[in-house]
Amino acid sequence: MNSMNGDRSSPDHPEVLGAARKAALGVCASFLERVSAGFEDWVAIGRNVVIAGNFAHAFLLLAARIWLGQAIFVHQIMMMMRAEGFAEAPSVGATLIRSIAPLLLATGLVTRPVALLLVLGVGQSLAGTHLAGPQAVLLIWLLIGGAGPLSLDFLLRGGLARVPVWAVRTISRLYAWSDALGDFVLPVGTRLYLALVIAGGTGFAMWPVPLTSELVTAPWSMLLLCWSLLLGVATRPVAVLLCALAPPIVLSGVAPDRFEVTLLLLLLAAKGAGWLSLDGLAARWASTGLRMRDHAAEAVPHVVVVGGGFGGIAAVRALRATACRITLIDRRNHYLFQPLLYQVATAALSPADIAIPIRSILRDQRNVAVRLGEVIGVDSAAREVLLPEERIPFDYLIVATGAQHSYFGRDEWAAHAPGLKSIEDATAMRSRMLLAFEQAESEENPAKREAWLTFVVVGGGPTGVELAGALAELARTGLDQEYRAIDPATTRVILVQSAPRVLPAFSTVLSTHAERSLRELGVEVRTNAKVTHIDRQGVDIDGGRIAARTTFWAAGVAASPAAKWLSQDGDKSGRIFVDDNLAVPGCPGVFAVGDTAASNGWAGGGVPGLAPAAKQQGRYAATMIRAAIKGHGVPDAFRYRHYGNLATIGRLAAVVELRSFRLWGAPAWWLWGFAHVLLLAGGRNRVAVVMNWLWAYLTYRRGTRLITGNTMDV
Ligand SMILES: Cc1cc2nc3c(=O)[nH]c(=O)nc-3n(C[C@H](O)[C@H](O)[C@H](O)COP(=O)(O)OP(=O)(O)OC[C@H]3O[C@@H](n4cnc5c(N)ncnc54)[C@H](O)[C@@H]3O)c2cc1C
Repeated sequence: MNSMNGDRSSPDHPEVLGAARKAALGVCASFLERVSAGFEDWVAIGRNVVIAGNFAHAFLLLAARIWLGQAIFVHQIMMMMRAEGFAEAPSVGATLIRSIAPLLLATGLVTRPVALLLVLGVGQSLAGTHLAGPQAVLLIWLLIGGAGPLSLDFLLRGGLARVPVWAVRTISRLYAWSDALGDFVLPVGTRLYLALVIAGGTGFAMWPVPLTSELVTAPWSMLLLCWSLLLGVATRPVAVLLCALAPPIVLSGVAPDRFEVTLLLLLLAAKGAGWLSLDGLAARWASTGLRMRDHAAEAVPHVVVVGGGFGGIAAVRALRATACRITLIDRRNHYLFQPLLYQVATAALSPADIAIPIRSILRDQRNVAVRLGEVIGVDSAAREVLLPEERIPFDYLIVATGAQHSYFGRDEWAAHAPGLKSIEDATAMRSRMLLAFEQAESEENPAKREAWLTFVVVGGGPTGVELAGALAELARTGLDQEYRAIDPATTRVILVQSAPRVLPAFSTVLSTHAERSLRELGVEVRTNAKVTHIDRQGVDIDGGRIAARTTFWAAGVAASPAAKWLSQDGDKSGRIFVDDNLAVPGCPGVFAVGDTAASNGWAGGGVPGLAPAAKQQGRYAATMIRAAIKGHGVPDAFRYRHYGNLATIGRLAAVVELRSFRLWGAPAWWLWGFAHVLLLAGGRNRVAVVMNWLWAYLTYRRGTRLITGNTMDV
């Protein structure tokens, strides 16, 4: 009958049924994969929220202590003013404690005993009925949870635990128990208290909690939020929302202690709902889920990624929900944000501000293992990656080993003109630069002193321009009044560019702006100039000699030796030619991405050696591997999307080109700064960079002027 009706999804057409089942399974699998990827992302976001919460919690506890201290202080003054009129004057003990409590609370010294005394009795007269209100809850936070990291108690804590006196050690142990108890009871108690206070004020009886009020002002949505607090559902956002609603709540007369209620809500937002809550339950379930996924990783394809830079990390992240086991190998333990390397080299930032451990980036991704090691080759036939003492087999391989300096065949220049590629390069460059000023200070021969105060930067691309600008700025303003024999402002910075203009990748208008900004900073820009020789004493440019004891190289890069590993010819920079899918010809399952790959994925032309290009390629290679693992067809060819170019010249001077949109001067500088902070990895690094820049912006000083390594090695 079915076949007569032409219904092909019948048992008579098992192939159709099979295809339909396969399609349905495919849809389910891709849905589960997306949920799974989202799950890990949410866990990672949750972890960052916890870190930010801990940070905020410390400051909120400080605010609570200062606030309570001032309340006690004001109350004490008023008591003293009124005391004469009262037959019953407050006891000496109570007066004493209330007099010193503000100072102890503000500094966070013996906070728990002070809070205990205030809670037990002395505080009874602190502010009348307030002790039953939010002030009392805040005191209980301090009593059970302690003063927090921004306190003297916290500073002394480590030392006290080691004092060989039984009583002191016991108190210190009691504090530790109290901390643990606080983690458990404080969020629960505060949620309960706030829910009752706020809902009680709404006038609706919160069944089953018997509460009534004269005021019938709050909408049902407020009750919903209170129930969320009570059950600990989405506690952090709810607490923040209630903070935003605090003024209306206060106006309704429900919570006259506006600041205390707001502080408690913020403390809750920072600390989270705690163990006894639905949020806590979800967090425990999530971490158990992640642990369980660990075990599933054994019988799946093995993807090896060599290089934990922009391309390698992007590839690994893109494979987070794919059923595969990944090994990421890098010879360094950190992921480096190279665009800000020149700021380390010129003492504006410290190395840790722009680098982050690779393990820390990938800690939430359970299908990846990170290996520290230098890859020395690939055995394509045996499908193994070679480390000095180990061979690591792979099913799929992504080579993302980046680039290194190229001296265009004049490798002997490397000793006299170091380049900038790694943290070690940047700190060595910084030392060389600072040592030049030191040498000039102690040099009595004027010609030699001038040579020490002459810096040559070879290469007028973004790195050369940024380096020259930052050097000139440091010399003009950053070292003011620090030397006695020399004036660093007389330093010569010479930028040598073989092309007719600096920043050739930018439009002519912007490169003209950049050159003008450099000249305004005092940089001598020499275009159409070719370096013919570099030695310890100076640089030859088109036959002319510049006596300069410090030369930096920002002119050429060459790919890593990966092409040789894979027996490929490579282009003139040594990059591996890859096909439209970033696959290495003749090496099935092997892909090359980023600076080490030569791809024509930019509208048929070469993909530039930029961080966004490496990231896009890394993600694309992951897509290829995912398709292969699932048995899907080959995805469309790789297409590079170019968003624009940015370069900074110095203080309030930058050039930005986003497609046809062009910007220069101060607006471009702000945009450049914003984009770089956003692209940095890690919250700590973002905060550190912003603080360092703010400091330099306000004071014109550089904070990291350390000469490290061998100070005589110039
Ligand atoms: C000073 C400087 C400034 C820059 N400024 C900008 C900018 O402003 N904007 C921009 O878009 N781009 C900029 N770039 C370019 C950008 O940084 C690169 O295009 C990008 O880093 C390329 O990414 P990648 O993954 O190919 O290589 P990388 O990010 O260099 O990563 C390569 C990784 O491979 C590892 N590795 C190398 N060899 C081995 C080995 N044998 N064994 C194990 N591990 C190995 C390295 O340790 C490194 O972690 C700049 C580059 C430099 C050097």
